[in-house]
Amino acid sequence: MIIILKQQINDAQKSAVKDFLKSRGFKVKEIVGQEETVLGAVGTNRIDIREVAVLDGVANVIPISKPYKLASRELKKADTVVQVGKVKIGGQRIVVIAGPCAVESRDQIMEIARQVRESGAVILRGGAFKPRTSPYAFQGLGEEGLRYLREAGDAFDMPVTTEVVSPRDVDMMLNYIDMFQIGARNMQNFELLKEVGRTGLPVLLKRGLAATIEEWLMAAEYLMASGTDQVILCERGIRTYEQATRNTLDISAIPVVQKLTHLPVIADPSHATGLRDMVAPMSLSIVAAGASGLIVEVHNNPEKAFSDGPQSLYPQQFDKLMRDIQALCPVVGKSLERIPRARAEVEIWTDQKSLIPSATTLKIAFQGERGAYSEQAIAMVFDEQADTLPCRTFADAFEAVQKGDARYGVLPVENTLGGTINETLDLLNSYPDLTVVGEKQIRILHNLIGLPGSSISAIKKVYSHPQGLAQCTDFLTGELRHAEALPFFDTAGAVAYVAKLGDPSCAAIASAVAAKVHGMEILRDGIETDSSNFTRFYVICREEHAHVFRSAMPVDRVAMVFSVKDRPGSLFEVLQILSEYGLNMKKLESRPIPGKPWEYAFFIESEMIGEETFAKATEALVATCASFRILGTFHGDRR
Ligand code: PEP
Ligand code: MN
Repeated sequence: MIIILKQQINDAQKSAVKDFLKSRGFKVKEIVGQEETVLGAVGTNRIDIREVAVLDGVANVIPISKPYKLASRELKKADTVVQVGKVKIGGQRIVVIAGPCAVESRDQIMEIARQVRESGAVILRGGAFKPRTSPYAFQGLGEEGLRYLREAGDAFDMPVTTEVVSPRDVDMMLNYIDMFQIGARNMQNFELLKEVGRTGLPVLLKRGLAATIEEWLMAAEYLMASGTDQVILCERGIRTYEQATRNTLDISAIPVVQKLTHLPVIADPSHATGLRDMVAPMSLSIVAAGASGLIVEVHNNPEKAFSDGPQSLYPQQFDKLMRDIQALCPVVGKSLERIPRARAEVEIWTDQKSLIPSATTLKIAFQGERGAYSEQAIAMVFDEQADTLPCRTFADAFEAVQKGDARYGVLPVENTLGGTINETLDLLNSYPDLTVVGEKQIRILHNLIGLPGSSISAIKKVYSHPQGLAQCTDFLTGELRHAEALPFFDTAGAVAYVAKLGDPSCAAIASAVAAKVHGMEILRDGIETDSSNFTRFYVICREEHAHVFRSAMPVDRVAMVFSVKDRPGSLFEVLQILSEYGLNMKKLESRPIPGKPWEYAFFIESEMIGEETFAKATEALVATCASFRILGTFHGDRR
């Protein structure tokens, strides 16, 4: 049952409620949500819920209708984010786990680990105990395999996961791994589930070969009832009458499971299909279906693999797949998870406050109100818990970073429909201490947002940023033509304004997050005229802090600004240098120079080249340009 606590409940009352439940044989779990705090009570005992409802501090008691309780969305509404080593799974992330079916030798796992890590995998897999259909097939290297797996994980900075097949191995395995995997054949091995759950370590729970979704969630319940709340579900194909593929990938299970449970769900396209060529298309469909990630088999020599060679990707195929996934991520509002050094930095610095120059916490500045698209970009670059600093103007955000009130700033630089956001470029040019260290692109999904209970036909005025209005022209001149469109400072600010007005005939155009933050209702979603609406953001910081962020990912982009001498061919000369040194230009923009009428600064983004060649190219550019500055180097988010 779920016990919803009154907001004013004091600690003594809360303890009394918990003690009462425990005395009746229930296990009690406290879940602190954004809106309310609840206690989940599970157990085999029966109780008249009115006995609980009358206790001091209890607002309401609701029985959980599903047979699984702790795993149920009824108990916990927010998505669970599971932590595996320093990688998080759940929320807005796409996490890719990769590696061979089985650890075959030290060299083999080392080589594959290096390759999958380079392509962007963040967790390493590899079986040491292989539950094979035939007793004569390779059974795995056992503890020796675990040692190699750990060594490879440490060498390439990846947490590791492997399958556990016997309760007697559980404690030994704790010395080597970051996450247990329960294989499809063991999904209902309840003694194993209890033993693994007891450790509290994260568990990747594969769906059984012929298990219903409810049976699968009951297996998760076993793990949770035994002591872990770190469970990830993995769809890996089920038995059907179809013979063309090894199993049948149950794609629809992904949204179904997400509705029923708060636990993250991923999928395994390798075991689902059994065929290498099917892995990439199925991986993309898994991401499109809303899963939190994938577990994929990759082998450096699949023809010689001890197990599952035909379904293992070649490293080059995996690399291509990672690029495709990265391109798909913003479409589904997700971000490909990287080994998160930027996040580790947040944690380290908040622990060691003295290291921060003038701020007491490591804040991240953005322009707009809470719920702004920029804030969503921040959540993807850093973490949902990132400490954000809303600023009224772009200039305020730059100033906050310059002064050290914020460590980073996240500012929009370009939109696929609206083009360059000039103000960001101009400000970058006028803050020589600040540098670009990162890039993030997000998909912009606009919503018509009004007061709860309002309706589209009642709307007479609609507020948003001019770009927001422009991007919804079809809707505004079509279904909403009876309303007047009014420009506002920013999108999320427009929602806050309408909320404050309290007038059901007013609405705003902004993100779904902004609607939630301000307690408003989405009257219509997806109202943007063109669905290929993406904005990319720059992450900026002071030059002296740049190395930390930059070291998190390989730098492959450079942004520069320059002006040229007033003579024929001067711009051509600059472009020639770029060409000579192999700097592949990605963007060129010109902006008027303040205080110098009819003179222009040129902004260039280019692919990055090797450090030494780049140093030479820079030298040539400095000699040729009237002025030249590197605005920053970063890991590009566009592929
Ligand atoms: C595996 O991941 O190697 C494996 C054996 O998977 P499953 O349990 O899904 O068959
Ligand atoms: Mn396998």
